[in-house]
Amino acid sequence: MTVQPEQEQRIVAAIEAAECVTSGEVRVHLNDRCSGDALRDAQKAFTKLGMHRTAERNGILFYLALESHKFAVLGDAGIHTKVGQAFWDGIRDAMIPELKAGRWVEALEYGVAEAGRALAEHFPHQGARDRDELSNEVSRG
Ligand code: CA
Ligand code: CA
Repeated sequence: MTVQPEQEQRIVAAIEAAECVTSGEVRVHLNDRCSGDALRDAQKAFTKLGMHRTAERNGILFYLALESHKFAVLGDAGIHTKVGQAFWDGIRDAMIPELKAGRWVEALEYGVAEAGRALAEHFPHQGARDRDELSNEVSRG
């Protein structure tokens, strides 16, 4: 499935905005099809992208298989301990209607903003010391 540059830019902008207020890292991974188990695919992508290597274990991955209409959101141990499973379920439940309606960019913008808010609460931005530990670019494949 073709992703327009404008759609990708909107997602990157949402990630940049989220990371302005937190040391945490947000990534978005897009796939065409998934194996049937979006969470497992998300875990694989998480590892492949080296997302478990942040200093505070506060990376969050949004995984979306555009043609299979499958979706998962996954947080590393640092943020997961703080927010618990209910937080991920809440984001997912809020995004599903948008995804079903085909508004996947809007769904991701919402989810990334929510993830950023939670990260900011538990992992505030470190000012000049803060590093962009994980690229803000959308990853594919
Ligand atoms: Ca950072
Ligand atoms: Ca980043």
